[in-house]
Amino acid sequence: MTRAILIEKTEEGQTAGLADVTFAPVAEGEVAVDVAWSTLNYKDALALTGAAPVVRSFPMVPGVDFSGIVRESRHPELKPGDRVVLNGWGVGETHWGGLAERAQLRGDWLVPLPGGVSLRQAMAIGTAGYTAMLCVMALEAHGLTPARGEIVVTGAMGGVGSVAVALLAARGYDVAAVTGRPAEADYLRALGATTIIDRAELTGKARPLGKERWAGAIDAVGGAVLANVLSMIRYRGVVAACGLAGGMELPTSVAPFILRGVTLAGIDSVMCPRTERIEAWNRLARDLDMAKLETMVSEVALEDVVATAPEFLEGRVRGRIVVPIAPG
Ligand code: NAP
Repeated sequence: MTRAILIEKTEEGQTAGLADVTFAPVAEGEVAVDVAWSTLNYKDALALTGAAPVVRSFPMVPGVDFSGIVRESRHPELKPGDRVVLNGWGVGETHWGGLAERAQLRGDWLVPLPGGVSLRQAMAIGTAGYTAMLCVMALEAHGLTPARGEIVVTGAMGGVGSVAVALLAARGYDVAAVTGRPAEADYLRALGATTIIDRAELTGKARPLGKERWAGAIDAVGGAVLANVLSMIRYRGVVAACGLAGGMELPTSVAPFILRGVTLAGIDSVMCPRTERIEAWNRLARDLDMAKLETMVSEVALEDVVATAPEFLEGRVRGRIVVPIAPG
């Protein structure tokens, strides 16, 4: 028997709680992993609360992330004892996920954990941090350098935002952090933000074009905030859009694109090709200040995961939440 969070569908709706689950024998190409750490991301909160249709089949073990040790392998490149990390691929949505003592899935989905990153640090980073790195990579692939000017990060107190601020600062960028919690600016300054912007400045109706302020942006929020950011991106700037914490809609115009040559780069971590994932994890191991990462982390026990999930939807989570499962 394996302890796991299980989401089930009943006639009254959805339930989530701790349960004992069993797995089929490991199939060709699959790997069984003893999960050491998991984590909570915004998407896990949507799945656990049922606030959005993240879970595609029931019963489902949620958890889009885990780090752990391979217990059994029928995959040619993985062997028992290997340290691995998993992000996305529909895990926790269509395939049982990481909020469990064991995970069993295609070996191709796993990334070997880079040396120097502990199993706990891997989950302190998690999908949020790996996505922040994909955003940085997208900005740089479109030609941004620190010399081009300040980069703005929205949803800065959250998981994606916190890691994005730290990564950009480590690369030498000036970072403006947009937050709905400006009273907690000290946290963001300690991560490397040089300017703090109250989110309220960016929630009104966006003009087609505003004053040119930032060379680029990492946006975890969407909605009116993203529309306002786009209107204030400098000529030929780049915006990496990855989130919807402020809404799915994008009330903007084509003006930033056709008059200022702004690029809107979409970021998807879930189906991102393996080579880019490995590059992102290697760069996280190299570039992310692990002492700063530690200031972002809080721990929640597996039995408290369900009760914690609503805090994401209320915008109350700061940084990253890790879940010890068999921390060793
Ligand atoms: P999170 O920790 O909850 O952070 C979200 C942050 O957004 C909050 O901390 C808050 O920051 C801000 N926010 C919350 N509610 C808001 C609202 N109504 N309007 C404007 N801002 C609001 O979540 P996360 O795990 O970092 O994820 C952030 C977003 O990225 C989510 O939408 C998630 O689904 C998405 N995401 C996408 C991918 C991908 O592959 N594309 C991967 C990971 C995450 P402040 O208090 O500082 O304003």
